Amino acid sequence: MNCRAGCGACCIAPSISSPIPGMPHGKAAGVRCVQLSDDNHCGLFGKPERPAVCSAFLAEADVCGSTREEAIRLLDWLERSTGLVR
Ligand code: SF4
Ligand code: SF4
Repeated sequence: MNCRAGCGACCIAPSISSPIPGMPHGKAAGVRCVQLSDDNHCGLFGKPERPAVCSAFLAEADVCGSTREEAIRLLDWLERSTGLVR
């Protein structure tokens, strides 16, 4: 599937262990990435500073669901189940 424009669920729900510009220690689950704009777009999209884990995370129906709210729920469940999504 194509990434849903203005979703940003995967930039909030999961923890990210690698450094993000502005968040040198990554981020905890449920914390909004500082690079996520108010309209839920990545401020680093297409830039070399974008973390590799973010570039590698591809939209998939099983994870992204059909709405942003569903994606938050699914990603939260994955985070709790696996301890780490990315
Ligand atoms: S959760 Fe899926 S649809 Fe939403 S921004 Fe991330 S990749 Fe795109
Ligand atoms: S760097 Fe961009 S893609 Fe990665 S979590 Fe932050 S806003 Fe999302």
